[in-house]
Amino acid sequence: MRDTDFFRRWMTATAAAVEREADRLTELDSPIGDADHGSNLMRGFTAVRAALEAEPPQTPGAVLQLAGRTLISTVGGASGPLYGTLLRRTGKELGEAAEVSDEAVRQALYAGVGAVAQLGGAAPGDKTMLDALVPGVAALGTSYRAAADAAENGALATVPMLARKGRASYLGERSIGHQDPGATSSALLLGALAEVAG
Ligand code: ADP
Ligand code: MG
Ligand code: MG
Repeated sequence: MRDTDFFRRWMTATAAAVEREADRLTELDSPIGDADHGSNLMRGFTAVRAALEAEPPQTPGAVLQLAGRTLISTVGGASGPLYGTLLRRTGKELGEAAEVSDEAVRQALYAGVGAVAQLGGAAPGDKTMLDALVPGVAALGTSYRAAADAAENGALATVPMLARKGRASYLGERSIGHQDPGATSSALLLGALAEVAG
């Protein structure tokens, strides 16, 4: 079973990974975006860390809902509402329990990824964060490590894709040949989950 501290550590590990990789995320967002993905997520996850410290939530669901709300209110770009929705919906699915099973985490994340697809109107193959999140969550049934690896491979697989959603889609064919920044940060999110799951 996974307790409140597990989810707090997941968010803290994500914040650390985003901080470590911020420059790279912004570089990936340069040729096919507006070069702010790293700074957007840095601002968001720094605020998440502060919010979790300021008013420590008492359940796994509350940790993720607070993190999601904080991302929505602090990240200006497309990724803020999308990641915010992912975490809020996942947290809502976890309900009020003090501890949750890995199967409950898998089901909740599945619903969270569905909410991202609904909000953004994207599908796998459109060169977005969903290209890491969908295979990642599908592999959660195996292990957290398998999910992180699948997300990483999903991010790499965005390179030859033509962007159909978000800013990168404005480039049409010129979006081909670049890795999607949001898929890359989604791999960091699932990588952090694998890290804290041990
Ligand atoms: P912005 O494009 O507003 O500057 P960011 O740079 O923070 O926002 O985030 C860009 C990332 O958001 C993209 O790399 C992509 O993965 C993701 N994204 C953009 N639009 C969508 C969408 N409609 N559905 C899913 N993900 C999207
Ligand atoms: Mg951007
Ligand atoms: Mg922007």
